[in-house]
Amino acid sequence: MNIHEYQAKSLLAKFGVAVPKGGVAYTAEEAVDVAKGLGGPVWVVKSQIHAGGRGAGRFKSDPNGKGGVRVVKSIEDVRDNAKAMLGQVLVTKQTGAAGKQVKRLYIEEGCDIKRELYLSLLVDRGSSRVTVVASTEGGMEIEEVAHNHPEKIITVPVDPAQGLMPYYARKVAFGLGLEGKSNGAAVKMLQQLYRAVTELDASLLEINPLVVTGAGEVIALDAKMNFDDNALFRHKDIQELRDEDEEDPMEREAARHELNYIKLDGSIGCMVNGAGLAMATMDIIKLYGGAPANFLDVGGGATKERVTAAFKIILSDPNVEGILVNIFGGIMRCDVIAEGVVTAAREVSLHVPLVVRLEGTNVELGKKIMAESGLPIIAADNLADAAEKVVKAVKEAAR
Ligand code: ADP
Ligand code: MG
Repeated sequence: MNIHEYQAKSLLAKFGVAVPKGGVAYTAEEAVDVAKGLGGPVWVVKSQIHAGGRGAGRFKSDPNGKGGVRVVKSIEDVRDNAKAMLGQVLVTKQTGAAGKQVKRLYIEEGCDIKRELYLSLLVDRGSSRVTVVASTEGGMEIEEVAHNHPEKIITVPVDPAQGLMPYYARKVAFGLGLEGKSNGAAVKMLQQLYRAVTELDASLLEINPLVVTGAGEVIALDAKMNFDDNALFRHKDIQELRDEDEEDPMEREAARHELNYIKLDGSIGCMVNGAGLAMATMDIIKLYGGAPANFLDVGGGATKERVTAAFKIILSDPNVEGILVNIFGGIMRCDVIAEGVVTAAREVSLHVPLVVRLEGTNVELGKKIMAESGLPIIAADNLADAAEKVVKAVKEAAR
């Protein structure tokens, strides 16, 4: 789960992390009230969406205008810029072409920036450790830095039994070129950030930029946090920060039915049981020249209702031009899947080619149910056959 910048900053402040003062605003008048409370003389009006690159992003309504993060010097400008941003669609490198509508703003005190650095803590699956990633190249996308200047990235894995020892924190701080007071402040902040990540079960905490001010203070100027969904049950307060407006409606619906669904941008919808088989299915669709519209794992013990829901979710994606159902019936019985598929296909009056590959428990019964349904289901014998058939059927339907 993701949260907004202002929410992440307020969580981090509880761990002692230095962040600028600010307040959230849903209207221009609220923005003015927050700005008056902060006092000025410089304010920053920041779009709150679940995507980075806001500063360099542009509003659809004003593509040649200013970005989604604006530094202003009067209350009037706070009001005008808040009005100009609220309700508008912001397109950044991370939102995709569709962009995201700005519904909340964060009004923050302006900061006297001397240097912009990059700092993140993430769960590195390779080493199974929380790892600190830092770079002197703040404000830029870390992927770009990693690609063009890999030598400018400092990586420090943390031993979970020891935590982030001061020695390692100092190594990061020196690597960032911080000395004296700033070095001490960064070391302290790193340890606070590490505590926040582990205690809140975050999978990612990114501060970009981490800034050094004219006075040598070290401040988290931006904050992005992702949380491990499987640990959310331990954090009721974080669950409450969920902003459903920012989430894909289909993914939300899938979560309601306990389906693991991730929307992708291809045209072939996939319904598979088991995450590994789902990955293999997506690969083989690619191999035959198609592109998957989604990842969907219906799980081992899916019911007819869940299969029906999964089917409807796949079909509600307007990009879907064909569906591949690939089920290995182990715990799951093929006849249950077949009934779910037939029910759903009838309910949604299926309008795209459907290829089904079934194998395992009760496979004959499953095939019979589909053959007798009267629906134009294309049966496949194995995974390769299924992928080839669905790609071909989609191409033919497009002609
Ligand atoms: P994003 O990463 O989405 O573009 P940031 O919060 O990193 O958004 O802001 C973009 C840039 O705007 C920062 O790199 C910084 O230069 C500037 N900025 C952000 N917040 C402030 C602030 N409180 N004071 C001064 N400048 C800021
Ligand atoms: Mg940023």
